[in-house]
Amino acid sequence: MIPQKEILKALEAYHPKKMAIGTICSHSALQIFHGAKREGFRTVGICTEDRRELYESYPLARPDVIIPVKKFSDVLSDRVQSELLAENVVIIPHGSFVEYVGAKNLEDQFRVPVFGNRRSLQWESSRKQVKEWLKKSNCLVPKEFKHPKDIDRICIVKFSGAKGGRGFFLTTSEEDYKRKMQEKIQKRVVSAEEAQHVTIQEFVNGVRYYPHYFSSPFENNGKGRVELLSMDKRLESNVEEIYRILAAGTLQELKINPTYVVTGNAPQTIRESLLPELYGMGRRVHESSKKLFGGIVGPYCIECVVTPELDIYSFEISARIVAGTNLYPEGSFLSAYLFKEPMSTGRRIARELKTAITKKALDQVVY
Ligand code: AMP
Repeated sequence: MIPQKEILKALEAYHPKKMAIGTICSHSALQIFHGAKREGFRTVGICTEDRRELYESYPLARPDVIIPVKKFSDVLSDRVQSELLAENVVIIPHGSFVEYVGAKNLEDQFRVPVFGNRRSLQWESSRKQVKEWLKKSNCLVPKEFKHPKDIDRICIVKFSGAKGGRGFFLTTSEEDYKRKMQEKIQKRVVSAEEAQHVTIQEFVNGVRYYPHYFSSPFENNGKGRVELLSMDKRLESNVEEIYRILAAGTLQELKINPTYVVTGNAPQTIRESLLPELYGMGRRVHESSKKLFGGIVGPYCIECVVTPELDIYSFEISARIVAGTNLYPEGSFLSAYLFKEPMSTGRRIARELKTAITKKALDQVVY
């Protein structure tokens, strides 16, 4: 693990007025560049050739500098890391960044300053640790089953590291589980190895919410503040519109299994009476992160489901900017109550970095 001391040393060589914001051209990069430009930062995009046309096509969100790569994992190479350091870049790690680079490689091999606490990325990549984190935060979590023989209700089966829902399936019994798992392996949706490391989790039936939080150490006269900036709902294929096929028969008759592969996001709001608990969850997740790994800084999201009894179950934490925030480049129905100007999560990150530069307190938000 590269110690924070070493990263801060690299940062000392940066010229504060020339500091740039950079990321991989994917996930929420347009929003990040757009927000950074609005706060007056130069922007640097790490881009593959096939994406260049798109990222250059938005004048208000295109990166000022493009570092070309053959594949995104090249960001770990000496060449790209040296270029990023020479450009005085602070990296904003988004979901694709973590996916392509790997949380462990980020901790061990990435010498470029990263916004936030890079230890939080390691925590979000382990389902076991996320569960511990949620429990320590007094969040209601779905029941889990260690062995398929214990399955006594509708469960969702998740593969480790398979963010984005790839391969997930529903099951109701041990027999059904074994049959479906065998089918997944035969069709090479998952490997036999992946099938060994699954989470069998109670399926919580209700409406999903993905609230977007931001924790700032500077607000509130330096006491810190958790902000609930916006929220979304993920659009997942094919479950989202599966009802459209039901005119032809039941799912069982048609031999169709719902799948949960993320394809996009939709805006969503929640009853105001549920906001206090939703906000409290974000604050508690931030509080407990301090004890677990030194604290989460900047954007994060808790994935949850609200049941008909109005209980809020949490099943996942994303410890960085989530793609659902792309819906709000001009701010949201909640950020309007926090900031006078349009405030996206991308812009909020840039604003925090600017505050840290002014206060000479980059060590509080960069690791
Ligand atoms: P995840 O990779 O944990 O974010 O899960 C992918 C998707 O599966 C989520 O966005 C939900 O739609 C669904 N999902 C995951 N866990 C549960 C659960 N316990 N109950 C209901 N739906 C879930």
